[in-house]
Parts: sequence; structure tokens; C-alpha cells
Amino acid sequence: MIPDVIKLTQDLVAIPSVSINNNIAVCDYLQRLLLDLGFEVERLSYDDNGQEKVNLVARKGSGTGGLGFFSHTDTVPGDQGWEPYNPIIADGKLYGRGSCDMKGPLAATIVAAAKVDAAQLKKPVYIVLASDEENGYYGAMHICKHSKLLAQNWPTHGVIAEPTQLRPVYSHKGGTSIFVTATGFAAHTSTEKGISANFLIAPFLAEMAALVPLFKRDERYLNHEFSPPSFGFNMVLNDFGTRSNVSAGKTVCTLNIRNMPKVDNEGAIALIVEKAQKHNLKVEVDPTDYFYVRPDNDMVQAACRATGLSQPETVAYGTEAVIYQAHIPNQVILGPGNIAQAHTVGEWITLEQLTGSVGTYERLIAELCGA
Ligand SMILES: [Zn+2]
Repeated sequence: MIPDVIKLTQDLVAIPSVSINNNIAVCDYLQRLLLDLGFEVERLSYDDNGQEKVNLVARKGSGTGGLGFFSHTDTVPGDQGWEPYNPIIADGKLYGRGSCDMKGPLAATIVAAAKVDAAQLKKPVYIVLASDEENGYYGAMHICKHSKLLAQNWPTHGVIAEPTQLRPVYSHKGGTSIFVTATGFAAHTSTEKGISANFLIAPFLAEMAALVPLFKRDERYLNHEFSPPSFGFNMVLNDFGTRSNVSAGKTVCTLNIRNMPKVDNEGAIALIVEKAQKHNLKVEVDPTDYFYVRPDNDMVQAACRATGLSQPETVAYGTEAVIYQAHIPNQVILGPGNIAQAHTVGEWITLEQLTGSVGTYERLIAELCGA
């Protein structure tokens, strides 16, 4: 029996799966469901600091290529002031943690794939469910490394079902963190024996402040396909709570750049690294890629047809498209719900978006897998 997308979303919301705990219960439920619906299911587990994390890769139909729907089963914590795991329907909305990000969209991909007659599939459909999206994409990385089902055949087309209000998205920014550390010597200020790491790092910080207008105005660092078109250049400081009568032994400055396609990301990062080195500070760079396919990409255009929208868009938030893009040349981000609802107290998704997305996904399967 094909599940109802609203009922399925409610069932999934009612099973807590906060990233810091585990997602075993929700994956047990989903594995059973996918098996009942006739999917072949691969279960992958790994240890995350003593917690078992589960990924599921499910396939319907056979052949090469095909279409994959990619979701995550974890959520951010519930937060206080509401009942996050008691899914309630009111005013045309379904409330609950994960209703929008992204158990609702996930449910819609399963219902759409379940509705397709396997005998009519010329190419396979995949449902890929990752853990740990909210804290570093570890589940998706594990899937890429260990899934035998996907190693046999990666789909040529992929939908990242994160909430986009059912608008096709062809690009999002990445995020590069640059950690700059000054090491001083901690001592009570009455002794004059200390060396403050804060004074050591201060000249560097002034140079960072001077980069703010450059990164906001210089066209080398702007991409007007995005709104805003700039890096969102940011800086936070940590001297580990040093009291004012002690010299700071260590100060870490973390800078962040939301790297984008078609701009000089490397040049911007090099500018920061060079200035840190000039001041004899330790520097480490931790990059996360941006996602980009051309607006006329095959998958993006299929999503435009399936939604009836002519213009694909960009978004400001990151997704696991950056992990899967090494394997899947044609990807789009397309899901029901508004990202503004993600991670909020009182998170919701409209029933209209949720039910509407099933038809959109069905049209994609029909076009790309020949159902
Ligand atoms: Zn999400």
C-alpha cells in the first residue's frame, strides 16, 4: 500500500533523530517501509563517537544511470517551548521538528518513487537517506565511500530534496573557515611576565577589518547570481575566557568566507593566509565547496519542466550536493517547504507544498527513468 505523504511525515517527525544522538529508530522504520514497497535496501552503519549512525540506500528498477533522491534523516535539536515530536496539523500546515528540514521532503520522495510501476522503469530510481547532515555531512561521505549499490551504478541525475519551495536551484555557496592562532604567555598582570596573544594578533585583526569593504565592493569577489552577491565575510574571536587581570595565552581568530563559483575564492583566501603568515601566526584552512551546475543542466531543466518554472535560482545555504557532485553530473536542489522554517521553534511545512511535491517528483521519474 502506498503511504500517504502527510501521514508518513507525521510518523517520521514522531521518531526523534537529533544528530547528536542516533537515527537508528527512524531508519528501522524507513528500512521496513522501503522493503514493504518493493525496494532493494542497503543499510550502512558507522560509529560516531560511540553512537551508531545509519544510512540507507534503496533502489527500485534496474539498468544503468537513473535518478536518485537524496535526503537526510537527522534533525537539529527540538528546542524548548513546543512539542517538537508531536506532529500537529492546523491551518493547512504540519508542525513538528523535521517537518520542513527534511522529513517532509524525504517522505515525498519515497511516496513518489513508490507510486511508479517498477515494470515501466527503464532506469533505476534511488532513495538515499543520510545521517549527520546537520553536523558535517559525514553520512553522505560514508555513503559515497561504502555503498555497494551505488558503486555498481551511480545515477546520472540527482535531486537534493532540501526545502526550496519547489523552485529548482542550480547553485549554492560553500563555506571556507580559516583559523588563525596567536600564542602568547599567560601570567598575572601584576607580574608583567605575560605576553598577551590578543596584542600579538591585534595588527592582523586590523588588516582583516580593512578587507571588509574590499570583499563587498571588488567585482573579483562578487557573483551577482547570488543575493547578496558577496562572501558574507565574517570574523569571530576566542581567547578562551581570559580574565582582564591575566594575559591571554592563546587567541584563535576564525574567519569565514562563503565561496562562490566564478569569483576569486583562492585569491581571497591567499590574501588572508599571507597576512597571517606575515604576523607569524599559525593558520589553517578548512574549505567546503560550493555547488554549481549550469542553469541549462539536464537535471535543472527537467526540474523546470516538472515545476512549470522557467528560471532556476540560487540559494545561500549549503547542501550535500557538494558531496555527491563528484559522482553525479546532473543535480538540482528541489524540495517542498521554506528554508526559513528550518531549525526554528514551531517548524512547519504547508500541506500544499508537501502534497504538491509528490506530483513534481513523479513527473521527474517519468521523464528521466521512462516510467
Ligand atoms: Zn536539511
